[in-house]
Amino acid sequence: MRLQIENLSYSYGEKAAVDQVSLGVGAGEFVGLIGPNGSGKSTILKNVYRGLIPDSGKMILDGKDIQTMSYRESALKMAVVGQENEVPFDFTVEEIVSMGRSPHKKLFDIDTPRDKQIVHHALEHLGMEHLAKRSYLHLSGGEKQRVLIARAIAQESDFFVLDEPTNHLDISYQMQIFDFIKRLKVTVLAAIHDLNMAALYCDRLYVLKDGRVTMEGKPEKVLTPQTIYEVYGVRSSVETHPVTGRVSITFLPAEIQSKE
Ligand code: ADP
Ligand code: MG
Repeated sequence: MRLQIENLSYSYGEKAAVDQVSLGVGAGEFVGLIGPNGSGKSTILKNVYRGLIPDSGKMILDGKDIQTMSYRESALKMAVVGQENEVPFDFTVEEIVSMGRSPHKKLFDIDTPRDKQIVHHALEHLGMEHLAKRSYLHLSGGEKQRVLIARAIAQESDFFVLDEPTNHLDISYQMQIFDFIKRLKVTVLAAIHDLNMAALYCDRLYVLKDGRVTMEGKPEKVLTPQTIYEVYGVRSSVETHPVTGRVSITFLPAEIQSKE
């Protein structure tokens, strides 16, 4: 396992947002965290990328306790696309993506031609070179999200931590970004809102409810009408898709349920 989380707990106040969660991500695996709003997905990821300090538990990345790493060391190891995407100052798109290079450098080092090339390529891959000089703050939500993915790519890390990375994006960009990350063959831990996307791209899923892991396994094992009902309270029909070979979920409106 590249990442092993053992008995992680975290509370913002009285109630545990994450309660004794254990999970693992193997080398090259694409692991998804699914579960309703408020089930603790973002809190787990924030503990992993050191936005929060755990109340208890252990997180081992590549054999080393994340909490004993220097911030630079963990920043080199993990590329993060979090959910709070606001930056406090008015940077250009190019400047934001260049920040992906900073863990590789010393303070006040200037960008080398290689850094510039990596930044350019990352922007190009996401179809954003034309926005390089634009102000980040004035972009749409979807464009901001793509800039942050470009920054993660410019970081050249092989471990990605993603919190609903395609949240604001239309379907073409959602597919483009997941396809792109898949092609990078990096190890991924991602909170994914959309169950069909999770089914298409994840090797393995952890289901969260009320801060606990309630189930773990391959998408076809986890994404059954029973589990979906237990976790989300929604009826669904699940089939193996003839083209993708992956499970495909259709959510059933109340009108159809009452006819059943
Ligand atoms: P998810 O990402 O699955 O939607 P979160 O990890 O954001 O879930 O939230 C888990 C729980 O922690 C929820 O009950 C949420 O209300 C609570 N929570 C999240 N962030 C904060 C915060 N900054 N302060 C207080 N409570 C929070
Ligand atoms: Mg969240």
